[in-house]
Amino acid sequence: MVLRLYDTMAREKRPFVPVDPARVTLYVCGPTVYNYAHIGNARPVMAFDVLFRLLRALYGADHVLYAANVTDVDDKINLKATQEGVPIGTITQRYLDAYHADMSALGALKPSFEPRATQTMDAIIAMISRLVRNNAAYGAEGHVLFNTQAYGDYGKLSRRSLDDMIAGARVEVAPYKQHPADFVLWKPSKPGEPVWESPFGPGRPGWHIECSAMIEETLGLPVDIHGGGNDLIFPHHENEIAQGMCADHVATYANYWLHNGFVNAGSQKMSKSLGNVALVHDLVTHVPGEVLRWALLASHYRQPLAWTNDVVDQARSALDTLYGALRRAKETPAESDGPSDAFMDALFDDLNTPKANAELFALARLLETGSPAERARAKGQLLAGGALTGFLQADPQSWFQGGADVALRARVDALIARRVSARAAKDWASADRIRAELTALNVEVMDSEDGATWKLKERV
Ligand SMILES: [Zn+2]
Repeated sequence: MVLRLYDTMAREKRPFVPVDPARVTLYVCGPTVYNYAHIGNARPVMAFDVLFRLLRALYGADHVLYAANVTDVDDKINLKATQEGVPIGTITQRYLDAYHADMSALGALKPSFEPRATQTMDAIIAMISRLVRNNAAYGAEGHVLFNTQAYGDYGKLSRRSLDDMIAGARVEVAPYKQHPADFVLWKPSKPGEPVWESPFGPGRPGWHIECSAMIEETLGLPVDIHGGGNDLIFPHHENEIAQGMCADHVATYANYWLHNGFVNAGSQKMSKSLGNVALVHDLVTHVPGEVLRWALLASHYRQPLAWTNDVVDQARSALDTLYGALRRAKETPAESDGPSDAFMDALFDDLNTPKANAELFALARLLETGSPAERARAKGQLLAGGALTGFLQADPQSWFQGGADVALRARVDALIARRVSARAAKDWASADRIRAELTALNVEVMDSEDGATWKLKERV
């Protein structure tokens, strides 16, 4: 079996062949840090974290380089900084720290590089200068614009012609543009906005140029795999390609383009104005990160995902089943030399995580019903598969005591302490009421001479 990935440029699954197996490169467009990440922002992080882990398993951890940028200069950041009366760095650091904490709660590995726009300014300015020199960019009214007519393949990724783009009004029309599809590389800063000196005058970069400059600086062109949400195909990725190709005259910008599907709030678009945005920062206070990770990876990354409470409940019950099997098999040794073939085949088929998860269930069944040799092998393969995709590494016993769910654990411990005091005071009515509260939380209390212990009941 070979790894096959669906390449948006080719519109088909292609066998993955890196330019240099000793230096496999992956770039993913990262967050703009002006607010907490919502569950839709976490989806590409999860999907490409699985890809990063798989590539590390295939080529060796030291042979895979993964860069994800941080956009830390942007209109929304400027607006928030003005509203709060603080420098933009205060805003960006606050939300970058929260982003790191939230993604790590979901089990995402740290990328090898996390370049920030404000720290890549020299490379951005150098790239714009090269584009001007190569007649692929021009200055107009304090702006520098990319000349889309200078790049013959513009629109190839999104399969749109320049005429379609104008007709579809997908581009901002401005009087200083030579062509309506031309886009900003550099623009003057408004009063009070952050500003950098450049050969084109004081100002700040457009968004698209940031990624091209960062790829060049951290990974080099061409990159093996470029990823992001499918809303970035046009214009962001189209513009990235045009910039990279015209600045450096390389044969290709990225050899594989991977795009993940959107996350909706049930049947609605997730949006602030509808008040249905699920923030990872809020979710992790009462749902274990591993449950959210499972919920995000239970659908194939290219499919749209309707985020509902049911999706979260199903994820929790799936993990309860797997951890339950592991807990009952406490005495069974784990023997394997890696994940099962069926599990790897699923991941090799364009990261089919739902299929890989189903294989974990098959192994859990074998762990409960097989011969001693089959059970030992099933346990080893279950744990190895889970380790590859970032699951099942917690102690099964502690999983049923709230696992990573710190808030729940604190709440249950507090209730049990109150119940102990109520019983000591012979206040049986309060003790019963607290017990009922614990039952409602799915908690089973075991009283013994040494005090009370508890566990979460498995859901069926
Ligand atoms: Zn990007």
